[in-house]
Amino acid sequence: MKLKIFETYDLLSSAAAQKIISTITQKPNAVLCLAAGNTPLKTYQVVAQQCKEMKIDFSKVHFIGLDEWVGIGPENSGSCQYFLRNNIFEPLAINPNNIHLFNAASKNLKAECSSMDEMIVDLGGIDLMLVGIGMNGHIGFNEPGVSSKSRSHVLALDETTQKEGQKYFTQKMALKQGITLGLKNVAEAKTALLLASGAKKAEIIKRTLEGGVTENVPASFIGEHNNSYVFLDTESASKLIQSKGFS
Ligand code: PGA
Repeated sequence: MKLKIFETYDLLSSAAAQKIISTITQKPNAVLCLAAGNTPLKTYQVVAQQCKEMKIDFSKVHFIGLDEWVGIGPENSGSCQYFLRNNIFEPLAINPNNIHLFNAASKNLKAECSSMDEMIVDLGGIDLMLVGIGMNGHIGFNEPGVSSKSRSHVLALDETTQKEGQKYFTQKMALKQGITLGLKNVAEAKTALLLASGAKKAEIIKRTLEGGVTENVPASFIGEHNNSYVFLDTESASKLIQSKGFS
């Protein structure tokens, strides 16, 4: 795991955008899995702007969905799909045939999970997975206590996620379950990149990076990945002992 700490959120976002862009320039048919959420928003804006300026060809890139709120359709502005459509797929004019997301409104979520795992295999695996971190240490919707051996699955969301998740919606929602790639999918991604920003994330970042690898803090498995990066801003890194010596 390589840890990088940036002075500001903007610098972190530029570096994360460079990771996405270099993945595409090295492998024009790369498979990306990009998280929704507030943290990567600026990263995606930088990617969209730079790709326009540099005329980077996204026509062969495939996108895999990381997670979604169960029962919530793509028309809801709080859904992960809505976020990705607005901030990535439309700005980059991605061909809908290259977008593979969970249908969280499906009656057969088990089938959604198995077809997602099959799709990842058919595409040759995920080249770059970019994730944020929840206040409880989740990545995707891998909540504390999740098995590190799971691939795509449906699970009950814990109280922190149910509460924190309200920030994405315009009205109060019942957010009981999530559908998500599992920690095994994260482990199998060729590169995994975790982003965190803001003082609010400082405590969970400390537990993630300095508390040992444990299913109680799912994000801690990033430390076991054989090609992973953690990009933090100084605020989210402020409680780390080991931050001294990193830059
Ligand atoms: P955020 O969400 O980027 O909106 O903070 C992170 C997460 O819950 O995974």
